[in-house]
Amino acid sequence: MCDVLNVEEIFASKVFTVAKMRERLPKNVYKEVKKVMEQGGELSLAAADVVAKAMKDWAVENGATHYTHWFQPLTGITAEKHDAFVTHPDSDGKMIMEFSGKELIKGEPDASSFPSGGLRATFEARGYTAWDITSPAFLKEDATGVILCIPTAFCSYKGEALDKKTPLLRSMEAVSQQALRIVRLFGNTEAKKVVASVGPEQEYFLVDREKYLKREDLIFAGRTLFGAPAPKGQELEDHYFGTIRERIGAYMKDLNIELWKLGVTAKTQHNEVAPAQHELAPIYETANIAVDHNQLVMETMKKVAGRHGLTCLLHEKPFAGVNGSGKHNNWSLGTDNGVNLLDPGDTPNENVQFLLVLACIIKAVDIHADLLRQSASDVGNDHRLGANEAPPAIISIFLGEQLEDVVKQLIETGMADHSIHGGKLLTGVSTLPDLEKDATDRNRTSPFAFTGNKFEFRMVGSADSIGSPNTTLNAIVAEAFCEAADVLEKAEDFDVAVHDLIKKYLTEHQRIIFNGNGYSDEWVEEAARRGLPNIKSMVEASTTLTTEKSIKLFEKFGIFTKAELESREEILYENYSKTINIEALTMIDMAKKQILPAVIKYTKFLADTVVTVKSAGADASVQSEELAAVSAKLAEAKKALAALEEKTAKAGEIASEKEKAFFFKDEVFAAMAALRTPVDELEMIVDKTVWPIPTYGDLIFEV
Ligand code: ADP
Ligand code: MG
Repeated sequence: MCDVLNVEEIFASKVFTVAKMRERLPKNVYKEVKKVMEQGGELSLAAADVVAKAMKDWAVENGATHYTHWFQPLTGITAEKHDAFVTHPDSDGKMIMEFSGKELIKGEPDASSFPSGGLRATFEARGYTAWDITSPAFLKEDATGVILCIPTAFCSYKGEALDKKTPLLRSMEAVSQQALRIVRLFGNTEAKKVVASVGPEQEYFLVDREKYLKREDLIFAGRTLFGAPAPKGQELEDHYFGTIRERIGAYMKDLNIELWKLGVTAKTQHNEVAPAQHELAPIYETANIAVDHNQLVMETMKKVAGRHGLTCLLHEKPFAGVNGSGKHNNWSLGTDNGVNLLDPGDTPNENVQFLLVLACIIKAVDIHADLLRQSASDVGNDHRLGANEAPPAIISIFLGEQLEDVVKQLIETGMADHSIHGGKLLTGVSTLPDLEKDATDRNRTSPFAFTGNKFEFRMVGSADSIGSPNTTLNAIVAEAFCEAADVLEKAEDFDVAVHDLIKKYLTEHQRIIFNGNGYSDEWVEEAARRGLPNIKSMVEASTTLTTEKSIKLFEKFGIFTKAELESREEILYENYSKTINIEALTMIDMAKKQILPAVIKYTKFLADTVVTVKSAGADASVQSEELAAVSAKLAEAKKALAALEEKTAKAGEIASEKEKAFFFKDEVFAAMAALRTPVDELEMIVDKTVWPIPTYGDLIFEV
């Protein structure tokens, strides 16, 4: 018999939830905490002391020995420094575990080794972590023991953001304030805030750990830098939604349990398009919690994989020739009294508030397409966006038939008097129900698609934090709301003014709407005609952070200062160069120490064979041909290796981070590709038993 899993019982068992606070805190303190959570402001130190004690007691009851301020520096992952609850023993030598309000609210990790992009000189080591009271504390359990993790924001001594969390929280406040102005115009006097909600669908690969450990490229770069395609790829589409194999199923089950305990609403799981690729989607939550939870999802995916003899690859493109991984960032806005601003209702043509919100988003995305593109860029995502694979690097919006039709009516006649309806889907089988159809089909090729009551930003990289995309989304939409509210609050006749404004926005920004095939070459040309930016790489995208337009936007809403933006741009260049440098060095290492020596041995074997066969008086022409072919590719590989070494060394000499990053992109990256080609060709002609590393077939079909 299998054990019955009580999901309701284990859910959030490792989280210091609001319910636990209600239970464990004196009423007045609980009320104070709730107030700060809902309305912002600061917790008094007296209250913080009480909360800290309750939190510590709960944590210790659950086996915790340490606490940590858990934060998200600009490395893109999370950071933690553990402190035991241990205190100085009294005169009897007895020690009491303690945790104060001050320790809860503020931490001071040495910040000097985190990326700051010049915001801080190395001698200014101070950085502060501040408790994000809106994201619950949780327990992390691993070989270290049980650690109480307190989600925090991370800032420099001067208050500059050094993390992904601080700007996100700032952007959430900005969009809330501006969205409130919009809903007030439509008579909603009750809402106190508007909350950005996010549901990220996370894609990932699983490979066998033993095989993973035999590939330096997977270990150091998280992706294969060499590898000929297996005879079979994803062409049969037999993996997508396919039956989940036992080993993977056991992994998914374990992963879900761990996530549920952490309060993550892991909901959907399935096999993805590429062999060995899978997806997990949680239910959406408030943006900052979703960002925290997505970090936990990624971390837990890796941790649980180890227990199953697997390794989880979150890289955007672990394998050439099959699909890479992304993260679909579903995003919406809702008032705290339950109105989803992106819900069109049955008759969107009559829903003026929705149409205004939609028009504002269309305008925001058109004006700041470059920033949105930037927010989804990371080194690995360069292999997807605008490269061999979808989604394209061009931002466009998919509205679907129904909304596109409403928008068309509004632009053409200034009036929208009807909405297309989905109608019934007739199954043609008497025993099957006929289904209500959605008014719109899906479009898998759009980077920014309206999906019923939310937008799905499909460009985000699988390994990346979703902090930046959501910060940018909130910021650009806050700006559009602000500009609309500025006009409408002053309008004499609101109905006329709002109508005119919607028409104006839609007319001026309709070029960003595209319902066709975003993967096609025609779209690339069409987009160019429309003047839409097509930013092909992460380093090019990074330059958009410090344009006048960007600085104006982010400074206006207090999300980033100019200095913060400059520092972030600098960090992106550094990060790009370092990553490509590691990849290049890994390729050099593998080529020099593993692949070329194996091929050289193989040529000796062939040469010996030729001699032996000939001396036996037989025809050795096939063996000679093989030898010639392998030797020719070997020479090519050797030459390409030398070129890569030279380029990589040269890159290291460039002083400017920006120039260096561009050099890595244009020169080193190209040299890497030039080395990969002959090596992959060699893999196709060399005896498999002498090939020194597991092949694509081994890696993605035999998990
Ligand atoms: P699909 O993309 O296949 O339509 P779902 O409808 O299940 O899948 O939604 C995908 C993700 O979008 C889920 O994480 C879901 O919770 C999230 N989502 C649904 N509604 C919202 C919303 N209002 N705001 C943000 N995310 C949402
Ligand atoms: Mg989806």
